[in-house]
Amino acid sequence: MAIETLYDKDGSVNALQGKTVAILGYGSQGHAHAQNLRDSGVSVIVANRRESANGKLAIEHGYAPLPVDEAVKQADLIIMALPDEVQPEVYTKSIGPNLRPGTALGATHGFNIHFKTITPPDNIDVIMVAPKGPGHTVRSEFERGGGVPCLLAIEQDASGNAFNVAMAWAIGVGGGRAGILRTTFKDECETDLFGEQSVLCGGLSAMIKAGFEVLTEAGYPPELAYFEVCHELKLIIQMIEQGGLNYMRYSISNTAEFGDYYTGPKIIDSNTKDRMRKVLSDIQSGQFAKAFREDYEEGFKWFSKQREQDHNHPVEKIGKELRGMMPWIHPVEI
Ligand code: NDP
Ligand code: MG
Repeated sequence: MAIETLYDKDGSVNALQGKTVAILGYGSQGHAHAQNLRDSGVSVIVANRRESANGKLAIEHGYAPLPVDEAVKQADLIIMALPDEVQPEVYTKSIGPNLRPGTALGATHGFNIHFKTITPPDNIDVIMVAPKGPGHTVRSEFERGGGVPCLLAIEQDASGNAFNVAMAWAIGVGGGRAGILRTTFKDECETDLFGEQSVLCGGLSAMIKAGFEVLTEAGYPPELAYFEVCHELKLIIQMIEQGGLNYMRYSISNTAEFGDYYTGPKIIDSNTKDRMRKVLSDIQSGQFAKAFREDYEEGFKWFSKQREQDHNHPVEKIGKELRGMMPWIHPVEI
């Protein structure tokens, strides 16, 4: 089922003329939306702590960061560029009480609206523009004259103008130069969570660790294991990004391509797919969102423990040493 794709010609940033847009948070997404919209001629205000690194950056970029409640009171479109887990409490304390009827509440990811951890009143618009790229790319592509494709969704249209406002926002951040894909909060949120959990982040990290463990437990040097199950991923992913699996398979050796078909289905089999279906249904039922919220309310106890354990995984220890031998990859230490 193909979805509607919109471009600059299908809307106008003018729908935000004479209006004020408040960007709450000046992090990865916030700084990009604020600067791109301002460069598109929109009147933008920013809410952020002044003394933090992001607050200082906002000041450096010519904004005078306000407290969240102040920014909400002044704005016609309020864009929540805050971490998903903090949005509900900031909404309850500072956003909700200050929303004026007829204004629009914007999200860059559907999580809190879809799972109802934020429930805005009926008399405001609820919209989403979710760029399919990290904030720094949203900014750098815009500066280059391009844009990052965006997902656009309307959850609530109280003013009758929600679509025009959402299009103005999407066009103002550069999305209309690449393509604006019309979807729903539900589809954006559920596919996003599924992708990051089962393939992009969860699946890939687990695959790297398992491959590394199998090789080192069988007595192979960790250095070799790291190169073969981790370092070379970059080359493979780059080819997939540019030309799909076909281009990657065209570029690798016949031995590697033969091994791909011979072994891939033995690793990811119908049982794996069944477990992916279970992951999807836990996302759809709200089970995952509930687990995330419950752990957040306990100070992210489980989350912090996992982070610490994986931080010290042997693949990370050897990886750090080997990356030090390759200055051209610009090693980063966390
Ligand atoms: P970041 O962590 O980069 O930035 C969050 C911002 O929120 C910071 O400026 C931070 O300020 C501020 N903030 C944090 N806590 C509070 C608080 N309690 N009260 C007020 N301000 C606070 O977030 P992201 O940009 O990564 O994520 C924002 C949204 O964008 C999320 O909904 C995410 O899902 C979505 N998104 C993110 C993408 C990405 O590439 N990162 C891609 C697409 C969507 P300070 O620095 O002062 O702490
Ligand atoms: Mg995601």
